Amino acid sequence: MTETVDALAGLVAGGGVVVLSGAGLSTESGIPDYRGPSGAARRHTPMTYQAFTRDAQARRRYWARSHLGWRTIARAAPNEGHRAVARLQRGGLIEGIITQNVDGLHTAAGSSQVVELHGRLDEVVCLGCGNQTSREELDRRLREANPDFDARVAAVNPDGDVDLADDEVAGFRTVDCTFCRGGMLKPDVVFFGETVPAARVARCFALVARARLLLVLGSSLTVMSGRRFVVRAAKLGVPVVIVNQGPTRGDGYAALTVDAPLGRLLPALADRTAAAAAVPTVPTGLTGVGR
Ligand SMILES: [Zn+2]
Repeated sequence: MTETVDALAGLVAGGGVVVLSGAGLSTESGIPDYRGPSGAARRHTPMTYQAFTRDAQARRRYWARSHLGWRTIARAAPNEGHRAVARLQRGGLIEGIITQNVDGLHTAAGSSQVVELHGRLDEVVCLGCGNQTSREELDRRLREANPDFDARVAAVNPDGDVDLADDEVAGFRTVDCTFCRGGMLKPDVVFFGETVPAARVARCFALVARARLLLVLGSSLTVMSGRRFVVRAAKLGVPVVIVNQGPTRGDGYAALTVDAPLGRLLPALADRTAAAAAVPTVPTGLTGVGR
């Protein structure tokens, strides 16, 4: 791994790095990666925006499962990978972070200039009036509305992707916006079939245009929502480096691809660049002068 870290450090040490991160960065925090190597066994097809907004039963099923799955997310803490990214940023090497993750772990690790492309699961928006509230508050309201739910489903809650029998879902009570009284609540994340707000995408493209290097961390780049930034970087001549476990759909654009666990590689990279920055460079030709 030393040679890999050396090669990466050589590229990152120049600064101006924009990070594009995906689910692979958060798996070591206990958040399942449904598209990565460990995610092949996903049991449920993802909720689409259309089903969520048009089908009361689909919405009830979503909230019932999400009510249980939320505990995995709420418990999750930043891992060594997130912390290493924050260290690289404090060292002045990272200009900004585009993340496809909705877990908020980059900011929890101390990073700034984070664009959360697909929103945040810990925020809730009313589709009626646009009022935003915290998931914590919604969690409290859902617990109050469903006092017996936990006891009934306690047996089926290993990883946040919860199987629920139809009768358990049928008994689940959803809640509405208290601000406009009756508006439909939705987690403030971008669902399948929904587009990312244009201003947010523009902010990401601006980051990519200013980048000296685009560093992809833990994304298989399966969906165009993230892959387009790799395509744009390549078009602008911004070198792309991809660190991911397994191949990605952006490998053809990359100057360097690294297959390694992020929780080990990134701390080593942060150590190496910090050590390099601490060594004063002696201009050639002056070596030995004054000694
Ligand atoms: Zn409302």
